[in-house]
Amino acid sequence: MTIKILPINAFNDNYIWIIVQGNDAVVIDPGQAGPVLAVLQEKNLDLRAILVTHHHADHVGGIAALLEYAPATVVYGPAHEAIPFRDVALREGDVVKPDGFSWALSVLEVPGHTLGHIAYFGQINQGQPVLFCGDTLFATGCGRIFEGNSTQMHQSIDKFRKLPQNTLVFCAHEYTLGNIKWALEVEKGNPDLQQWSQEAQAIRNQGKPTVPTTVAHECKTNPFMRVAQESVIKAAQIRAGRSLNAPDEVFAVLRDWKNNF
Ligand SMILES: [Zn+2]
Repeated sequence: MTIKILPINAFNDNYIWIIVQGNDAVVIDPGQAGPVLAVLQEKNLDLRAILVTHHHADHVGGIAALLEYAPATVVYGPAHEAIPFRDVALREGDVVKPDGFSWALSVLEVPGHTLGHIAYFGQINQGQPVLFCGDTLFATGCGRIFEGNSTQMHQSIDKFRKLPQNTLVFCAHEYTLGNIKWALEVEKGNPDLQQWSQEAQAIRNQGKPTVPTTVAHECKTNPFMRVAQESVIKAAQIRAGRSLNAPDEVFAVLRDWKNNF
């Protein structure tokens, strides 16, 4: 049975992802209940599980109301954070396989944005790899470092970089155009980035999401995935006014640059 993964718009720019198999559904990071309930009712779906990546309110705020509507829903979330109504606490390497679904997702610990942040990676529909990365990776950008440090965040992004190139990456926010503006400051001469800038603008003009992205696409266009590229290292060195000798240092300069952009 074909599995569909669809975005549900929430707040200004959040995406709550819903995985649909037959009449069963799983949602990831429901910061708001209303938009999720509307989709469940419109498509006549039973909510079976909620997967949470981290504790921020715009990712967990809808859990209570969803459980009132569907009390049997199982809530999965990171072991190292306080997640409301969590039933199953997850650590690196744990596998999530909600009852009745044909797929399973494994857990990656990706600290940086928050200290206990996790991501979910697995395969659906004849081996298509998928990643639900929460606020760790965005198209052409990455999450702000609220609790961890830039070394942790770099390691977390590096975990994603090593996933299969065709992995679909389901980001939790539509930040792409702003991220591209900044990325062009870093790598004006990157032809893939220039092309992406035009494509992303056209997609947004039609009111469509620019995500999911892929690991391959991020490796070509996202400065945070490109800290070993000569052009990115050079730009970061000019920005910092000193030579940078390790990818970690390049990453830290990029994150600081983006914060102040
Ligand atoms: Zn967050």
